[in-house]
Amino acid sequence: MSRARLSRRSLALTAAAVTLGATFYGVGAATADNSVPRSDKEIPNLTDVVNEIKAYYGDTVDASGEHFASADSSYARQLAGIEAKATSDLAHALHKGGHGGHGKPAIVLDVDDTSVITYNYELEVGFNYSPASNQAYLDSKNMPAVFGMDTLANWAADQGVTVFWITGRPESQRADTVRNLTAVGYKSAPDTDHLYLKDKVNPPAYLSCGSTCTTIQYKSGTRAHIESLGYDIIGNFGDQYSDLSGGYADKSFKLPNPMYFLP
Ligand SMILES: [Mg+2]
Repeated sequence: MSRARLSRRSLALTAAAVTLGATFYGVGAATADNSVPRSDKEIPNLTDVVNEIKAYYGDTVDASGEHFASADSSYARQLAGIEAKATSDLAHALHKGGHGGHGKPAIVLDVDDTSVITYNYELEVGFNYSPASNQAYLDSKNMPAVFGMDTLANWAADQGVTVFWITGRPESQRADTVRNLTAVGYKSAPDTDHLYLKDKVNPPAYLSCGSTCTTIQYKSGTRAHIESLGYDIIGNFGDQYSDLSGGYADKSFKLPNPMYFLP
């Protein structure tokens, strides 16, 4: 994704603090929000948080030092519950036939931490994403499928549902993304008609925000485009709320991700 995460988040927090300071100056803004802790005790200890994340993913390490999430982890169990609900909802929509829309049924998946797990990469870079380290990682390794999402997507395809991916990854990561999705068990073709990456250099004409789209504008605008092609998106899957906001999906499913937040 085009996520200069920490810097963007820091900027947002700074902007929020400035706004609050201006609006509530003298009222004690620090008590009205949590952006400025008064004590270190109000801040989760970073080492503890990382250890909690590793426990949640059921951290396992192979002989070469690569970290993996475990299939019997809390993460996998939480996913299984969401996927069971989603499968039931999708089956119901397909059975009803109308599925509230007027087109060919489709689902949309985000890529990172929705279709494939970034956990090993995130640990490798200390949760500090950079385009360069991410590109180097994708060039040399595949990320494993998010537990159960390959099964869900393949099941949907077997029911006649068209599978689309919309990712914030840049267009330059198309080949790596196609290779990875195919290698880890996604049977629907992530071809150019079904895998949308963010193209800031030559943005598609249907995105009126062009090269300046926010994630929500880019993703919802691309879903609108898909529906304009005659599809009805009966399910939209993402690990970030910005994957899911903005409409153009009958149902949205939020997958867990305690590792980072993307506006
Ligand atoms: Mg994601």
